[in-house]
Amino acid sequence: MSQDKNGNKRSDGNEPHQYQAGSTTSREQDQWKERPPYRIHDKADFDAKWKGKCHCGAVQYELSRERPLASKYCHCTTCQRMHGAPFQWAAIFHKTDINFTNGHHDLGWYDPTSKSTTHHLPCKVQCAYCRTPIMDEGRNMILLFPTLIEGINTPEGRKAFEVQSHMFYQQRVVDVKDGKPKFKGLADESARVDEETGEVIPGSEPKEEDK
Ligand SMILES: [Zn+2]
Ligand SMILES: [Zn+2]
Repeated sequence: MSQDKNGNKRSDGNEPHQYQAGSTTSREQDQWKERPPYRIHDKADFDAKWKGKCHCGAVQYELSRERPLASKYCHCTTCQRMHGAPFQWAAIFHKTDINFTNGHHDLGWYDPTSKSTTHHLPCKVQCAYCRTPIMDEGRNMILLFPTLIEGINTPEGRKAFEVQSHMFYQQRVVDVKDGKPKFKGLADESARVDEETGEVIPGSEPKEEDK
């Protein structure tokens, strides 16, 4: 990257496609490595309840929380496209609930709003090698994808990560008649959708003070 006389950054074709340079640099754009969720925890004070990894195994993590703060299916078109799946399954955790045990320097980012691949929040986080989606990193929380977690297909795993609701249900490509609450937009912050008719339930919009 070089700068022209007006101070504008100009590509000289030499900059990396994504910032994932090794662990020894202290550039401003690498400061994320020192902060949660990427800060490495001391083994002694991290009680791992679950382990997860990407498809190739380069990225591995542990979770210290038995159950996510919330678990949801998101049917929005961005999730459909970015996951190559009919909907996204997201489990919400604090940034301090995760400890990357391998490959946290081998991550790639993408912000679907700005279509940028530098690390800024919120963004989507992938394994830079096999491209498995790892999580969505928000400003305060992370949304993990439970299918990466070892034991998610056991009765205990399914129970711990069971969803409470569906979001953006009107953008769905499949009907999921599981009896869980369905929301037009964000869960608990938008009108409810009737799972039988697919229509918004009149008067179900939350009141301002409930939001
Ligand atoms: Zn991988
Ligand atoms: Zn979504």
